[in-house]
Amino acid sequence: MTKKRLAILGSTGSIGTQALSVVVAQNERFEVEVLTAHSNADLLIEQAIVHQPNVVVIGEESLYDKVYAALDVHHIKVYAGDEALSQVVQMDSVDLVLTALVGYAGLIPTLAAIDAGKNIALANKETLVVAGELVTQRAKDKGVNIYPVDSEHSAIFQCLAGEFHNTIEKITLTASGGPFRGMSRDTLIKVTKAQALKHPNWDMGAKITIDSASMMNKGLEVIEAKWLFGLKPEQIEVIVHPQSIVHSLVQFEDGSMKAQLGLPDMKLPIQYALAYPDRLPNNFERFNFMDYPNLTFEQPDLETFRNLQLAYDALEKGGNTPCVLNAANEVVVDAFLKDKVGFLQMSDILADTLQKCTFVKRPSLEDYIASDAEARRIATDKI
Ligand code: NDP
Ligand code: MG
Repeated sequence: MTKKRLAILGSTGSIGTQALSVVVAQNERFEVEVLTAHSNADLLIEQAIVHQPNVVVIGEESLYDKVYAALDVHHIKVYAGDEALSQVVQMDSVDLVLTALVGYAGLIPTLAAIDAGKNIALANKETLVVAGELVTQRAKDKGVNIYPVDSEHSAIFQCLAGEFHNTIEKITLTASGGPFRGMSRDTLIKVTKAQALKHPNWDMGAKITIDSASMMNKGLEVIEAKWLFGLKPEQIEVIVHPQSIVHSLVQFEDGSMKAQLGLPDMKLPIQYALAYPDRLPNNFERFNFMDYPNLTFEQPDLETFRNLQLAYDALEKGGNTPCVLNAANEVVVDAFLKDKVGFLQMSDILADTLQKCTFVKRPSLEDYIASDAEARRIATDKI
């Protein structure tokens, strides 16, 4: 069997490092062609020496010399800067691009990969939040498949295997509720960054962990699901499921529901996206019902956790609104991580920015880029 050659964008992050562990365990199926990081040069160098990619990219240009000095002796090509990302994903030797970088930075390289006809394993949900219509249309035009890595969307995708001709009535995305589930606004006003960074079920990068605490992650996932599965907002429901065992559900026209279950471990959805349509044997820990005799479900609290409602509203309004929401969110999360804004203030700034930004009904790529910049300016001014 010929090996699938992977470009892993964001290999030094939570998803990136777990993807590399999948590659090691499945080394007859996959090999690494490209690894990229933003500023963690030490880990990138270490990974490159172990996995022997053809090329690495370090985002931070000032770190180029350091990475080059370490990897040139291993005959690994080194590039630096954002533009290099868009070039390396287009290399003939790349079969599949795993977008495991965080935030808006994923958009341009993902579009470049699609333009070159590369299939995408998509972890970087922000790309679909910012420009879902443009990205999915371009993928369709190029005959490119986008395989979801996000666990909820992987669950839906797995439930849809063999069902693609059947109409979906609705999908239900499950949410753990994060560390602050059940808390009132009076309590949330005082929560700290350290508390927000302690997710009960998942060990993830800082940005998505804060998004999970604020329910913004679920809002971004509602928008992601719309574009991945071609749904209307009213067909996408969110339910809080604190154990994170049922990863999401699909309900078909006949009322039948299918769910995908398993322990919360991102290696499974990563492996499924990389190996699709195959399921590969592995030694991941298995789920046992007797360890979880009570799987529970509750309604999300949209008044306390406003971000989920803001995301539904943005999806309903359409155009560049989700792009504005995403940009403002990246700004406020960064500010929260630097102790510059409080937890609840994040939603206030988002709502304000959404009000103030110029609305564009049918945005082009240039419009998205401009909206992202405008939203960042407005949100930053409010901090
Ligand atoms: P991390 O913060 O752990 O890792 C982010 C990666 O992206 C790192 O390799 C980082 O490099 C790189 N990076 C950061 N900023 C830039 C930039 N401006 N340009 C290029 N590369 C950059 O994030 P996660 O792995 O947690 O998340 C990655 C994506 O996957 C996000 O979109 C997230 O929403 C999604 N996701 C994550 C899940 C998880 O379990 N972690 C679950 C579902 C989805 P460096 O290390 O050098 O900073
Ligand atoms: Mg998810």
